[in-house]
Amino acid sequence: AAKRYADLVDLPAVTTCGKTLSLQMNAGLMADLPSLASSGADGVGLFRTELQFLVRNKVPRRGELASLYSRVMDAAQGKRVAFRTLDIGSDKVLPYMKPQDEPNPAMGWRAIRVGLDKRGVMRMQLQALTRAAAGRPLTVMFPFVAQFDEYRQAREIFYEVLDNEARLGHTLPESLEVGAMLETPSLAFAPDKFFEMTDFISIGGNDLKQFFFAADRENERVRKRYDTLNYSFLSFIRQIVQRCDAFETPVSFCGEDAGRPLEAIALAAMGVRTLSMRPASIGPIKSVLRRIDLDEIAAVIDEAAQSGAQSVRHDLSLALAKQGL
Ligand code: PEP
Ligand code: MG
Repeated sequence: AAKRYADLVDLPAVTTCGKTLSLQMNAGLMADLPSLASSGADGVGLFRTELQFLVRNKVPRRGELASLYSRVMDAAQGKRVAFRTLDIGSDKVLPYMKPQDEPNPAMGWRAIRVGLDKRGVMRMQLQALTRAAAGRPLTVMFPFVAQFDEYRQAREIFYEVLDNEARLGHTLPESLEVGAMLETPSLAFAPDKFFEMTDFISIGGNDLKQFFFAADRENERVRKRYDTLNYSFLSFIRQIVQRCDAFETPVSFCGEDAGRPLEAIALAAMGVRTLSMRPASIGPIKSVLRRIDLDEIAAVIDEAAQSGAQSVRHDLSLALAKQGL
């Protein structure tokens, strides 16, 4: 099987109906970077920067981070790396951070909420990213944005950092892309201005699904009740894509579901054109995408829902089996 996928590394993820998808990889450590070439990923759609904070026993220094990010960009050899700013709290607890006694950590003080309250750490990380990029393109996204203002404030902090770096004589990035992760349903209903102001949007499907169904992603008992192929969830994804498309805001999906064949196909049929996943999934997902027609898949999904199906999983797998997939 590995050999079969190896043959696909240089081929595009193009469907039989002629739609090309971008398949990217999720990463978090320097050790993940060699997979970029071997998997044939178009880039790193999600770089989880908190992993480098989690493997240390104290807050890393700015210089240390800058050289780390610089090496990540070197290893990417010009491919785009979307650096997600620190996403701590909830399931990611730093050993050197005072534990927060919160009844609902997943809905608590985490990610951008911490970043906006503890601006020193966020500024330090943005400085490190800016210095690492020095003359190269830089892509940064903010996690867990639940309302427009959080994105607006984070973006403003980033611009202040850039101004300051320029004043200090540092070479600025050649170009800049600033995005938001859509991980709470609220953001899908943000004012138009939000979509105009974002250079891209990345759907964090793990968290989005958790909050869409109000089912803890860490709690097997409740998590398994709600299928990603539930029609309500797929329709919601379609609406998000349509809103982004209306403003020509590129949208990608980077939860674990992007790396599962049926889920990836369904997401593509809902209009998602960029999927970011663990590197080992890229071959299998590309292989299946190259053999399907997205309009047919969308029709199967809509018909399944019209016939009353709650999840389209059964009908979708039947349809694929009929095609010998
Ligand atoms: C997500 O929520 O889907 C996501 C990509 O981020 P994480 O899994 O790190 O929360
Ligand atoms: Mg998340």
